Amino acid sequence: MHTAREIREEIEARFGFFPPFFAPAEDDARVLENLWRQSLLAYVDNPLPALFREKLFAWLSRYCAVPYCIVCHSCALRPMGMRASEVLALLESLPPPHGAIDETLSRLEANHEGLVDWPAPGSALEEDLFRWSVFLFVHQARAERCRERVRRLLGPVRYDHLIVFLAYVKTCLLWVETHPELSYEADRRAQEHLGPLLQEEPRLRAFFAGYTERVRQEREAREREEREAARAGERAEALSRTLSRRTEALRESEAQLRLALESAALGTWDFNPLTGELRWDARCDALFGLPMGAPVDYPTFLASIVLEDRERVETSVARTLAPGGDGEYREEFRIQRFQDGMERWIASRGQCFFDEQGHAVRFIGTVADVTERRRAEDNLRFLAQASVVLATSLDYEDTLRRVATLVVPVLADWCGVDVVDEQGRVHRLINVHRDPEKMRLSEELHRRYPIQSDASSGVPRVLRTGEPELIPEVTDEGLVRYARDAEHLRLMRELGLRSYLTVALRSRGRVLGALTLVRAETGRRYGQEELRLAEDLARRAAVSVDNALLYREAQKAIGLREGFLQVAAHELRTPVTALKLNVQTLVAGARRGEAWSERTVSRLTGLERGVGRLGVLVDELLDVSRITSGRLVLRPEELDLAELVREVAGRFRPEAERAGCILHVRVPGPVVSRWDRLRLEQVLSNLLSNALKYGAGQPVEVALSTSGERVHLQVRDEGIGIEPAVQARIFERFERAVSDRHYGGLGLGLWITREIVTAMGGTLHVESVPGQGATFMVALPRG
Ligand code: ADP
Repeated sequence: MHTAREIREEIEARFGFFPPFFAPAEDDARVLENLWRQSLLAYVDNPLPALFREKLFAWLSRYCAVPYCIVCHSCALRPMGMRASEVLALLESLPPPHGAIDETLSRLEANHEGLVDWPAPGSALEEDLFRWSVFLFVHQARAERCRERVRRLLGPVRYDHLIVFLAYVKTCLLWVETHPELSYEADRRAQEHLGPLLQEEPRLRAFFAGYTERVRQEREAREREEREAARAGERAEALSRTLSRRTEALRESEAQLRLALESAALGTWDFNPLTGELRWDARCDALFGLPMGAPVDYPTFLASIVLEDRERVETSVARTLAPGGDGEYREEFRIQRFQDGMERWIASRGQCFFDEQGHAVRFIGTVADVTERRRAEDNLRFLAQASVVLATSLDYEDTLRRVATLVVPVLADWCGVDVVDEQGRVHRLINVHRDPEKMRLSEELHRRYPIQSDASSGVPRVLRTGEPELIPEVTDEGLVRYARDAEHLRLMRELGLRSYLTVALRSRGRVLGALTLVRAETGRRYGQEELRLAEDLARRAAVSVDNALLYREAQKAIGLREGFLQVAAHELRTPVTALKLNVQTLVAGARRGEAWSERTVSRLTGLERGVGRLGVLVDELLDVSRITSGRLVLRPEELDLAELVREVAGRFRPEAERAGCILHVRVPGPVVSRWDRLRLEQVLSNLLSNALKYGAGQPVEVALSTSGERVHLQVRDEGIGIEPAVQARIFERFERAVSDRHYGGLGLGLWITREIVTAMGGTLHVESVPGQGATFMVALPRG
């Protein structure tokens, strides 16, 4: 342990004078020794370059309120070669701003792996080290994070010397401030150099005089800056928290969007109009029938669009990309899928983005398969169109032809309509084919191999059961099984059937016909959807056909009724005219007081006949309304039919005579049962008067016979007879097979007769050879 005196001598020996700095410590040797040892080790003997040390000391002294340090260390710089202006510039330089230190360090690290030698005095590198040292001194806490980097750069030894030096400066500043009485005037360095320095740079005086205020301002400015930085930091942190929340939300909404895209089966695409690059996702690949991840560009996309739609899409895309528009894109078009050639409907939506110059820079969007929707719409349109077409005709064959023409080629390549004729034969009514050559072939097929009505499948089965039949895929084995012979097979193969369906045309519980749709060349196969559509169409068509049939029947009924009214008017007028004439003559004769002569009697007989005839006509008309309204009432009574036949035939003798007919009556003994007398008389009268009318001049025979429980009544003539084709028809209301000019009549007699016989549980038939006569046969049950 040295005495204060010994230490003072050591200091004087070292500096050549005793700096006033140590004076306050002289009272306590331990304090003095401590200060001196620190000064010696950290400052005087510190291996850091002396100029660097001094400059740093001078600059850092600005943080001491007592001017001793700043003046003495500035003065120390002069003998080291710094000019007064340089000293002022050094002292005036500001502490490195916040943030500059990172820049300084990056520069240090970029250029120097680790310093071998201390950088040259005044070099940029030394300048950086200086700034960093200042930073460490001023912002001790914040220098923490870069301490390790500087240590690596300087190497541990040099680094430690620097730290020791900075710590020493701190000690000095604290020491001096604790002893404000310390005066630089007493220091040799000031005594020797302050005068010349101030002379050289007078502004130094002002600097030394006001530096504490300046430093205070600097500190305040720095604190402000730090507060702002802190606030900015807080803001940045808040912002980053918000951002990360938003990013999270975005990620979530992205996930939701992906989910939405997937559940909506939307594919997404991204087109760069500048480079022409087109990117799309795996769903787009699937929609367009491309292998996943296959290269795709705009021309590939265009090539997939069917020819009819391509130009429209191209124009729409060009319009979307054109500057000045709203960039919105929306199209629906058909594509032909690359892998299987299937036609699909695609709906695409997109948005184009433009840069400030209005150039399209990005065009993104989605695609979705809307085939089902489009087909449903097409089907609805088709059915609406069909309804219009079906409503335009009341001719049933014409209606069916219209249906078939509507179906080909939209729904089928070939369409046939089959109906069952009166003989129960299946008959192809309509046959429409898109290809005239195939049309000829199919007609040949039908001519040579007519549909077999009893076939267990196909059209006959549909006509029988009303159930539809769908064969999605017609195989060659199927054709072989179905073919009746080699030629049949050849024709069917040549027709190239691929898929077919048959549905019944059904109305009011009746099957009117069958509609068959066939696909040949075109690729699509029939499925449930087409079957439903065909059934829908068939329902509408059947109603139209039924209407047409009803209309035809109504037309026929109207025609018949009109004919009947004409005939009836004529029939009624003839006897009325004759009656009028006879009555007038009789009245005139009576006025003249003439006696009743033979002629008068004959006139009166004529009158009676005419009145009788009128009575019959009126009765017939009354019967029509009775029968059609179901008011025909039978009043059975016990009677002998043989007797009744003889009686009625007797009444017809005069008429037979007039007609030139010999009337033969062949009846057995009594045939007794309970029948309606008047109605049986009416039956016999109708048949007899027809026989006399249409068999005039020839014999007429009435015969009665019995067999078991049945009674047979026959009326046979040898007159004009009836054509076989009309034999069924003559029993219908108003139906006649002769001309009105030659034979009078209302066409009601046979109809009324059959209605009466049927009501009695019997039957009425005719057998006739034209030109040779007719036999009408009534069979009646007894009682
Ligand atoms: P109308 O004799 O008043 O015409 P009908 O109903 O009695 O009416 O007979 C219907 C049609 O049947 C006749 O118009 C005629 O063409 C034919 N017909 C009926 N009876 C005979 C018959 N005996 N011979 C030939 N044709 C007949």
